[in-house]
Amino acid sequence: MRTNSQLSNKVVRGLSRILGQEFVNFWLEQAGSTVSTDRCLAEVVRIDRETADAVSLWLRPNDLFKGFEAGQHVNLSVTIDSVVHTRSYSFSSAPSTNGLVRLTIKQTATGVVSRYVVNQLALGTVLELGDVFGDMTLAHTQPNLHSQRPTMLLLAAGSGVTPMISLIEELEAKGWPADVTLMSWARNPEDVLFDAALKAKTNKHFKYVRLLENGANLAEGDLAGRPSAEQFAALAGTLETTDV
Ligand SMILES: Cc1cc2nc3c(=O)[nH]c(=O)nc-3n(C[C@H](O)[C@H](O)[C@H](O)COP(=O)(O)OP(=O)(O)OC[C@H]3O[C@@H](n4cnc5c(N)ncnc54)[C@H](O)[C@@H]3O)c2cc1C
Repeated sequence: MRTNSQLSNKVVRGLSRILGQEFVNFWLEQAGSTVSTDRCLAEVVRIDRETADAVSLWLRPNDLFKGFEAGQHVNLSVTIDSVVHTRSYSFSSAPSTNGLVRLTIKQTATGVVSRYVVNQLALGTVLELGDVFGDMTLAHTQPNLHSQRPTMLLLAAGSGVTPMISLIEELEAKGWPADVTLMSWARNPEDVLFDAALKAKTNKHFKYVRLLENGANLAEGDLAGRPSAEQFAALAGTLETTDV
């Protein structure tokens, strides 16, 4: 069965042949549509506030989106004051069948795109997705996936946890084919992204450890200060046999 969007794409392609691709795409864009003959446009369908300075965007891309693998990133183009800005963002969800993808963006002090997204971006905005890149995927990071009980140590700092969330969701969906430890660094407990969701996933195959700055308010199990080889070894066992 054809979806509405496949039908509208067919209509748009027909119109483009008659009126010209540029003309049709221009008016579709003016109307806030994600239908396009040549660009992967995506509508912001949900915004979740994750921390004081970070939000997650749930996007519904049009049919030109070719998908991604857990752990990859995408070029996102945002128009701010009539100027198009392009930045890379990791997918913070595993690939799913509901057609939505999630990006999680943390604002940097004077950053153009991240400050706009975190403070001003509205639901329904249409953004452009470019190429998808990255080989920090399960196929590349876990070559021993077929060995008896592979172990993985994922190290993240700040918004760098986003591709790890995607990988963790993928591993969870596959029934934890490896024993996984995630060490996530942030200055303070309230800055740790996806803290509650990660705690909820903890089980005998998934260990989650927060690493906070010296002086931060520590809870049981938190580590503080600079990460060390001893900590890594204590958490993930023999590093020679662990994918890090
Ligand atoms: C592979 C990859 C994946 C990424 N994934 C994520 C993700 O999942 N989530 C996320 O939040 N971020 C991610 N990023 C970072 C993201 O791409 C942006 O770099 C980030 O959002 C900042 O963009 P911006 O437009 O807000 O800042 P920009 O305006 O580009 O500024 C970047 C930094 O440079 C400083 N700066 C700007 N101009 C000047 C100047 N003239 N002089 C001195 N300093 C200046 C700013 O203060 C800011 O700190 C990723 C980056 C890469 C490469």
